[in-house]
Amino acid sequence: MRLLSTSGEISPAPLSEALRRGLAPDGGLYMPEHMEPLPADFFTRLPGRGLVETATEVAQHLLGDADIGERELADIVAETLSFEIPLVRQSDRISVLELFHGPTLAFKDVGARFLARLLEHTRTGDQLLTVLVATSGDTGGAVAQAFHGVPGTRVAVLYPKGKVTPVQERQFTTLGGNIRAYAVAGTFDDCQRLVKGAFADSTLNDRMTLSSANSISIGRLLPQMFYYFHAVAQLEPDADRTVLFCTPSGNFGNLTAGLMAKHLGLESRFIAATNVNDVVPEYLDSGIYQPRPSRRTLSNAMDVGDPSNMARIRHLYGDDLDGLRRDVTGFRVNDQTTQATIRRIHADLGYLCDPHTAVGIHALEHVLTTQPATTQGIVLSTAHPAKFREVVEPVIGRDVPLPRRLAARLEEPVQSIDLANDPDELKRQLLDWD
Ligand SMILES: *Cc1c(COP(=O)(O)O)cnc(C)c1O
Repeated sequence: MRLLSTSGEISPAPLSEALRRGLAPDGGLYMPEHMEPLPADFFTRLPGRGLVETATEVAQHLLGDADIGERELADIVAETLSFEIPLVRQSDRISVLELFHGPTLAFKDVGARFLARLLEHTRTGDQLLTVLVATSGDTGGAVAQAFHGVPGTRVAVLYPKGKVTPVQERQFTTLGGNIRAYAVAGTFDDCQRLVKGAFADSTLNDRMTLSSANSISIGRLLPQMFYYFHAVAQLEPDADRTVLFCTPSGNFGNLTAGLMAKHLGLESRFIAATNVNDVVPEYLDSGIYQPRPSRRTLSNAMDVGDPSNMARIRHLYGDDLDGLRRDVTGFRVNDQTTQATIRRIHADLGYLCDPHTAVGIHALEHVLTTQPATTQGIVLSTAHPAKFREVVEPVIGRDVPLPRRLAARLEEPVQSIDLANDPDELKRQLLDWD
C-alpha cells in the first residue's frame, strides 16, 4: 500500500514514510492510494467470525504489499487487539459496540497500539522516534500507554492544562521513562497548533525524527476500520445487514475509518454525532464549512472546533456534498440532553454509558425514527463510563466504581511540565530533551 496526500502535491509514499511523518510534507493528510473492495467471500464468511481473524484479513488486504511481512502483520494485529470488542444489544434496533475494553478504557487504544507496533517494525536501524501528540483527554493516555517502553521511541504529550479529567491526566503523566507530559496554558486547539508548528519547523526536523500519533496518523486510522466489520460479524444471523452506525465525533477519525470501511464494501450508513461543537453537522445541513474555536462540554473528548479529518472526508467524496449526505447524517446533542440520556438509559435498561456514548445513543434514537423498521443501529461506545464519572455520578445519583486498573493510577502523583502556548517554548523543550 502506498499513500497519497489530501493536498495532492506529493507522489505516492511508502507506509513507513507516512507513519514516520504523520502529516504529509505538503501539509495534507495521508490516505491510501487505492482502496479495493474486499472479496465478496470475506462478507459471506464474516458472521460469527472472531475479531483477530477478521482484522487480520482486512489488514492483509490493505497492507499486504507494504514493507511488513505477512507473519509480522498478523502478530501486530493480534497484539493490538488483545481485548474484546463486544456488540451489546440494547433494544430491537439498537446495539452498542463497546470499544473501551483496552488498557485505558477508550477506543483510542486500538489505534495507538497498532501505530506503536507499526512504527517499531518499520523504523530503520537505531533511529530514535520522537512522537508528538496533542490530546483533549483520551488520546494522550492511549498513546502514552501504547508507546511506554517501546524501544526506539519517546513521546511528548501536550494537553490543555486543567481541561482533562483527573483519571485522564493520570494516564499520561504517571508513566515516566520514555513518556513526557506538557500542560499547555491554552485549549486543545492550541495544543494541536503547537504540534503542527513543530512538524513544520526545519531546525527541529534536522535535529530529530518527529512522528505523529494524533488521529491524523494513518497508522491509527487504519485499524479503526477493523471494528466496523467486527460489529457486523456480531449481528444476529437473521438481522438486516444494512447498518446505521452512529459515531460520536470530535476530530472525526472514527467516522473517517467507517467511511473507508464502506469503500472496502461494508454496507452501511453513518450518523456524525457531535456535541455543540457542530461544525460538521452544520456543514452537512448548509454546505458551508466554518471552523471555529471549540466550546467546552460534558463530552470533552469531542470538543473540537476544527476537525482535522474533514480533509480526509472531503478527499473521499471530492466536491460531492450530496454523495456525502447520502452516506452521513449529522446530528448535534447538547449537554442537557446528554445528561438526560445517561439517566434514562440507566433507569430503563440498567446500562451505564459515558457522555460521549450518550451523545451517540440519543442521535441514533432520533435518526432511526426516520429509517425503515429493519435498519439496525449500532452506536460506537468510545469510553468506559468510569472514565467520566465526574459527569455520570451526579446524573445517576450514585457512585461509579473505578475499574482496578484506573484506581491504582489515581494514587500516583502527576508529573507534568507547564508549557506556555508558544511554539518557541516547545521547541526549546524538545531540543533539550535527552
Ligand atoms: C477521541 C474521542 C472521541 C472522538 O473521536 P474522533 O475520532 O476524534 O472523532 C469520542 N469519544 C471519546 C471518548 C474519545 O476519546
